[in-house]
Amino acid sequence: MNQSFFPVDPKIESLIARAEAKASRQFAAIDETADYNAQKVLAAFIKHRVSEPMFAGTTGYGYNDMGRETLDAVLAEVFGCEDALIRHNFVSGTHALTVALFGVLRPGDRILSITGRPYDTLEEVVGLRGEGHGSLKEWGVSFEMLDLAEDGHIDWARLPDAVKGARVVYIQRSRGYSLRPSVTVAEIERAAALVKAVDPSIILMVDNCYGEFVEQREPTEAGADLIVGSLIKNPGGGIARTGGYIAGRQDLVELCAHRLTAPGVGKEVGCTLGESRNMFLGLFLAPTVVAAALKTAVLAAAACEELGYAVTPRWDEPRTDIIQAVTLGDEAALVAFCQGMQKGAPIDAYVTPEPWDMPGYESPVIMAAGAFTMGASIELSADAPIRPPYAAWMQGGLTYPSGKVGVKLALQSMLEKKVFELE
Ligand SMILES: *Cc1c(COP(=O)(O)O)cnc(C)c1O
Repeated sequence: MNQSFFPVDPKIESLIARAEAKASRQFAAIDETADYNAQKVLAAFIKHRVSEPMFAGTTGYGYNDMGRETLDAVLAEVFGCEDALIRHNFVSGTHALTVALFGVLRPGDRILSITGRPYDTLEEVVGLRGEGHGSLKEWGVSFEMLDLAEDGHIDWARLPDAVKGARVVYIQRSRGYSLRPSVTVAEIERAAALVKAVDPSIILMVDNCYGEFVEQREPTEAGADLIVGSLIKNPGGGIARTGGYIAGRQDLVELCAHRLTAPGVGKEVGCTLGESRNMFLGLFLAPTVVAAALKTAVLAAAACEELGYAVTPRWDEPRTDIIQAVTLGDEAALVAFCQGMQKGAPIDAYVTPEPWDMPGYESPVIMAAGAFTMGASIELSADAPIRPPYAAWMQGGLTYPSGKVGVKLALQSMLEKKVFELE
């Protein structure tokens, strides 16, 4: 324990040690959730008789692919719902969300988002931005938003009237890259009850990205009809190389399957090549990988808060996703933070990220990412648009020890750039 592999100032070391000690109760709660969820996943594997031949994979049409069919059943079991569609063929979370929306909606239908503006990439899908790409708007499906209340939570008072006439009520669980609070499963349960009281035929759909396995229940166990997520985030456990899932009510998942492949073909086809093993293994590891990411986030929150930075969520606040926002106040601090974090990545640590004008963004963006899977944000990563309030959004960490190094090096880099001083 006395060899130091990284150049970290002793003052940073002791700051981190204090933060870690302070957060011990949060860490214990995270471990308890991981313990529960890991058992839940293991029990589902055993019940559905997962076996080695399922890893072999099929080619061509992929009829009767046992791995594919069993993985769907396992995921549905884990999420406490009727059916699931988990596929490497989903190219991203946005794609899975798009398939789900186009799968269940028909011309003339209305979507109501009760968490305000959706995630950036969804804007073109629903037709808030861009033209000529076949958005839902172009297909005659309207998209409306109920803004969040003053306190950043769902506007409970206006919800019952607003949802009238909607076909889909849409919730984005994670804060994404905003500073609003994320939506807990208990809040989703409350929304589901209110929505169903107005009209039981309304479909409650949840963008579950970054939320899987953070709590002991998923939205499908709390009244959501359909949930959607990405496999290069939580449920892929850092092992799935690409993909996404849709899970929920059987009739709705069926509609989505006919949209993913072709009407009439549905779930019956889709070869798995060799990807099933990665998806099974990733799902198996996901609860403990999510715990590592959560501990990394709590540690960063506690340490940054002690340095005087505003963080959301706070270190001791309950969490429902793996995102940690840290408001660093100016460009120099933000750049130093991201550059330091990159130095702790297992891949590409020697690269120095710089702010750049990323297509589609109004201000330059800096990104720290050094991952086994390109763009995987279950691996330690941080992104920050260079504009006030100069906040970094960080997430991930496949293991807590490596996540901790990333946080230490981020602070070390800020110290070296004289962004702050330590006694
Ligand atoms: C990641 C994410 C998505 C989907 O993004 P992709 O990059 O397409 O996978 C959608 N919503 C939220 C809240 C997300 O975090």
